[in-house]
Amino acid sequence: MQTDMKTPLLPSSAPDPSEPGGPGGPVISIIGSGDFSRSLSARLVACGFRVVVGSRAPRRVAGGLFPAGVELLTQREAVERAERLVFTAVYPEHYHTLVGLREQLEGKVLVDVSNATGLNRGGQANAERLAELFPQSSVVKGFNSVSAWALQAGAHDGSRQVLICSDCSDSKSTVLQLACRLGFSPVDLGGLCASRDIEEAPLILFPSWGGPVLTTFLLFLFFYGYLFLRNILLPYLDEGRNNFYELPLVTVNETLPAVSLVTLALVYLPGLLAAVFQLGRGTKYKRFPDWLDRWLCRRKELGLLSFLCAVLHAVYSMCLTLRRAAGYNLLNAAYRQVKAGVEHSWSEQMVWRSDLYLSCGILGFGVLTLLAITSLPSVGNALNWREFTFVQSGLGYAALTLSIMHALFFGWDFAFFPGAYPYYLPPVYLLALVLPCVVLLGRTFLALPCLMFRLAKIRRGWESPRHRPPNNQEPPEEDPPRHPGDV
Ligand code: NAP
Repeated sequence: MQTDMKTPLLPSSAPDPSEPGGPGGPVISIIGSGDFSRSLSARLVACGFRVVVGSRAPRRVAGGLFPAGVELLTQREAVERAERLVFTAVYPEHYHTLVGLREQLEGKVLVDVSNATGLNRGGQANAERLAELFPQSSVVKGFNSVSAWALQAGAHDGSRQVLICSDCSDSKSTVLQLACRLGFSPVDLGGLCASRDIEEAPLILFPSWGGPVLTTFLLFLFFYGYLFLRNILLPYLDEGRNNFYELPLVTVNETLPAVSLVTLALVYLPGLLAAVFQLGRGTKYKRFPDWLDRWLCRRKELGLLSFLCAVLHAVYSMCLTLRRAAGYNLLNAAYRQVKAGVEHSWSEQMVWRSDLYLSCGILGFGVLTLLAITSLPSVGNALNWREFTFVQSGLGYAALTLSIMHALFFGWDFAFFPGAYPYYLPPVYLLALVLPCVVLLGRTFLALPCLMFRLAKIRRGWESPRHRPPNNQEPPEEDPPRHPGDV
């Protein structure tokens, strides 16, 4: 880490005497000598800036904590030395202790780096409170979304995005330029009223993943519980058969593909529903219900969770033969065969079945991997809209079809035998196939020319006469849908 700090992040950030921040340029001050201040000053010095840190008790700060070249002074001295930029790297509850510096801070740019203490607390944002305390200074909110660690690691690790807002555009552009020179990607979020969102941004935990993770978890619980009941508990209660050893691996491995298949179907179902809504309404200028809107926004997360289950299923399946139980079962089968005098056991039908279901599974997994890779922003950004829809929609349905075939070949004709329904419970792969088959049939139905052309027309802006506004009148009042509802 130390070696990183010795070299500037960007080639362009080499000291330039003509630019602010060059050796002869203005000094940047930081109030507070804590973790954030240390990391920020190290980054600033590495990028060729002169830094002064203002502490309540500069002598108490242990030597060597700050990089060479950083001056440690009192808060007042540090603020006086700053020509324009002053970072307030103290907690917001201590802002009031700085009011004695109002005069020295007059006309300067105060950069507020604080985070919110909780989500949806309401009230004033820290930056707005700081602006109220220092009306003669211009306050810029920024750098709080970068941790002290990311500041040190710079371009190599952590988030590179710096969210910035301020009511003073001149001060804001100075901080935006500074963020660029430090090797970060500044994002201008407008006026200071955006500071609450910026302060809360680092506290939000995977906002779009809650619903998809819960859905996947509930599906897992359902299928695992079903298999436990059908294959373990009922046989034990009924015949005293002890299959509990299947719980940690075999049952999990049967649950995972079922969850993966249903979750993949849930990725494509909302697109079909959106198409049905548009066809039924005869217009695209009507918003989808909220639940469908939210569902459409979570397709990527559902797809990635489906991929995760498929990966785990592949790994579990490869480990099946490593189990001690598999070894015993093989020996027992061989012994029974010897006893029965069977010399050559070969069932052509079973050979085809296993090869076909393995092949479909591998192909489906490969296509699913491609989908997961293209959902990465860095890869997705390299595709144009048509390429992206081809991969996500075209290849997505290919993955769904191959996964369905994998399950069908696995099931073979066993579903037609009464023995496949112990305690009147169907095999789990049959349950898992219901929704994916409905989605695939729905997609095929929508590919009928009469429906496909009508839908394409609606998506280009055509409206059925009952929705069309009379001539010379405003278009319909409803907002256009936020999603194209692609099928
Ligand atoms: P810290 O290590 O606790 O440092 C805070 C500094 O504030 C202290 O070193 C102290 O400096 C000063 N201070 C303490 N009590 C004070 C008081 N009563 N009055 C005035 N000053 C006082 O905290 P930090 O991690 O650097 O965080 C500082 C700010 O940066 C916070 O607002 C935080 O939300 C924000 N931030 C931190 C991180 C991070 O990763 N650490 C990331 C983003 C944003 P002196 O003793 O020298 O005066």
